[in-house]
Amino acid sequence: MAMVTLIRNAKVYQPEYAGVKDILVLGGRIAAVGEGLKADFGGSVEVEEMDADGMAAVPGFIDSHEHILGGGGEGGFQTRTPEASLGDLIRNGITTVVGCIGTDSVARDMTALLAKAHALENEGISTYVYTGSYRVPVQTLTDSIMKDIMMLDKVIGVGEVAISDHRSSQPTFEEFARIAADARVAGMLSGKAGVVNVHLGDSPRHMDLIERVLHETEIPASQFLPTHVNRNAGLFDACLELAKEGLTIDFSGNEDIDYWETICDEVRVCRGVRRLLDMGISSDRFTISSDGQGSMPVFNAQGEYQGIGIGKASSLLKEIRECVQKEGIPLEIAVKGITSNVASVLKLGAKGQLKAGFDADICFLTDDTLELKTVMAKGQFVVKDGEQQVFGTFEKK
Ligand code: ZN
Repeated sequence: MAMVTLIRNAKVYQPEYAGVKDILVLGGRIAAVGEGLKADFGGSVEVEEMDADGMAAVPGFIDSHEHILGGGGEGGFQTRTPEASLGDLIRNGITTVVGCIGTDSVARDMTALLAKAHALENEGISTYVYTGSYRVPVQTLTDSIMKDIMMLDKVIGVGEVAISDHRSSQPTFEEFARIAADARVAGMLSGKAGVVNVHLGDSPRHMDLIERVLHETEIPASQFLPTHVNRNAGLFDACLELAKEGLTIDFSGNEDIDYWETICDEVRVCRGVRRLLDMGISSDRFTISSDGQGSMPVFNAQGEYQGIGIGKASSLLKEIRECVQKEGIPLEIAVKGITSNVASVLKLGAKGQLKAGFDADICFLTDDTLELKTVMAKGQFVVKDGEQQVFGTFEKK
């Protein structure tokens, strides 16, 4: 890996569009974004150069909700989903991932989740985790939510705590508020987001618990990142109401939306983002995550298991493409949902922007069809011209 990389002629989205610029990368960070940049060290330092040839350069994607350890199991042990691989993430532009545990917190736990996060970090990307799972009381690695957030570097919040779902542990208002309070204070004490990533189910109780915390306690909207907000039309309406009050809401990407749109009224991400913007809600208030490796079980009206699919890391870029191509949302707005907005709500200080001082996580997309060609993670080209350059320990080269 070269210590110095000079990228020329990229259409730079910081994510706001900054024009055709060069990007100078030094030791894993962006040193400068500007015109006619030079990197001359008199031959004493190897300088790698890349001509971006007018491709769009956007910040590396941040996936705020991915079951890196695998998830699922709702149809029996044989429906447990596999772990994420480095290749699957980087080939889809994901350079930062937040791992979470879902329904099953018995056969999956925080020890294994943290081990997996460290493995992916060692292999070349940036990783974080939420402590806990669907369940309340939250099952932490140490003896408390606060200690996990304060003392474990990778733990940035709690999640995914399930509400309004037949698979949740049916937390009471007091239990739920206490989780948010602990996460908030631990976040303050450690300089982290201390966010609660909330799994929303299909029940008509929708966002009730979050709404009550926002309206009946002193805890601000910035403490929550509810996810799967687009899983049905009624839920999405409720989420938009709270987004108006300053809550950031997280869409789940879906590669099989043509199917899910018809069977359960799921809101296509690009249509949802369009609605949010048309309502005059700030473009800072949405994120998109992949729910990658999460199971997508189908239940009938009686709650009986019918079949299973799996969330895909590729859905992030697919949704951005649909925002631009189907809804005419400018790339600089759409891409905020998987870059700067995520970094902001999760307080990932050096992530999500292409500016001097930020981590050199960069995705290069063809200007016209938004095809992902090249990916840099922490200053290293991990995908180049569509070819994977860095491989996980057990991946085939
Ligand atoms: Zn979930």
